[in-house]
Amino acid sequence: MENKKIQVLRPVYRIEECLAEIRQTLECGWTGSGGKCLTFEEAWKIYTGLPHAHFLNSATAGLHLAINILKSYYDWKDGDEIITTSLTFISTNHAILYEHLTPIFADVDHNALCLDPVSIEQKITPKTRAVLFVGLGGRIGKLQQVSDLCKRYGLKLILDGAHMAGSRYMTVKDGFTAGMKHVGCESDVAVFSFQSVKNLPTADGGMICFRDAELDARARKMSWLGIDKDTYTRSQQDGTYRWRYDVPYLGFKYHGNSIIAAIGLVQLKYLGEDNSRRRMIAARYGAILNREKLWIPEDFWGHEPSHHIFQIVVENRDEVLVELNKRGIYPGVHYVDNTNYPMYRYGYDESRFSQIVSAKLLTLPLHLEMTDEDVIRVAETVNGIV
Ligand SMILES: *Cc1c(COP(=O)(O)O)cnc(C)c1O
Repeated sequence: MENKKIQVLRPVYRIEECLAEIRQTLECGWTGSGGKCLTFEEAWKIYTGLPHAHFLNSATAGLHLAINILKSYYDWKDGDEIITTSLTFISTNHAILYEHLTPIFADVDHNALCLDPVSIEQKITPKTRAVLFVGLGGRIGKLQQVSDLCKRYGLKLILDGAHMAGSRYMTVKDGFTAGMKHVGCESDVAVFSFQSVKNLPTADGGMICFRDAELDARARKMSWLGIDKDTYTRSQQDGTYRWRYDVPYLGFKYHGNSIIAAIGLVQLKYLGEDNSRRRMIAARYGAILNREKLWIPEDFWGHEPSHHIFQIVVENRDEVLVELNKRGIYPGVHYVDNTNYPMYRYGYDESRFSQIVSAKLLTLPLHLEMTDEDVIRVAETVNGIV
């Protein structure tokens, strides 16, 4: 019992169901884009209520594509600024650099560790074009306030929802609550990840969800090298030139494939169930962990985060990590503040809360193979060390 190893993250697949979907894909011979990708996109739109969805081979590709398309559509210039967080996986900020824009780091709030609108407002300059919000751990934080701020300043809002499959919140309109909605509804574009350890794991995959139909259409072309199949097929009624296509854009090879979409379709069916199990594990941790010795980043009232990861903040983080490893428990760290890496060093600020908290953050194991006993064992072990 004591020797059972508990990993921080671990994907669970409904293997027989996944295999049946994959078999169908192989039998019909259509494993590329289209096919199950379109089915998965439709299912995702129904699940989230978002108007558009395009399936890609990763969220990193999605974030890059989002910024690439916004930049060309709104004619942003090299060196224009996007306000972002340094407390994230590097994909978020790399996507900005890919497009020769400048990440400007604002601070995170002290509850959910997501971008704080007050700090964002202080960072706005005439060069600011967008805000890139990350829902760390699936938490929604002050996303809605950030969305309002973006509207006031005419900035685009990009959501890195890599942790947020199934994150919902009580929206507010004109001072009144306006129903639970899936995240993304407030953003110009939202990107989700189905990478192998995310809470909707496939192997690698992502979804880009533009609010605007025109930009969604652009994303579909840009994700397949900028090819526009429609132009010739529309002009050639008899179909003689069906093989011809136009290439209006310098696009990328970013689209998803039907094998992965087949897995995604099965995983999506269980997302609600899986997230409620995650919520129960998080609640159990919250009840047992000694809050006089550590604190737990938490979301605000009316928010239903996916609980993709469960984080704690402890003074002696490195010691706790080593001691847990000795006892067969393998937590993680999400994330080292990105301004510690060379390409973001210009934004280093030791007084920023994201920098301070990042040195104390620890991600405790949370996944669907954990039993209640596992959760209790991890929590009590942590209490014994902090
Ligand atoms: C995982 C992750 C990404 C990248 O997702 P991929 O699908 O692996 O490209 C982006 N942002 C955050 C916050 C992530 O955790």
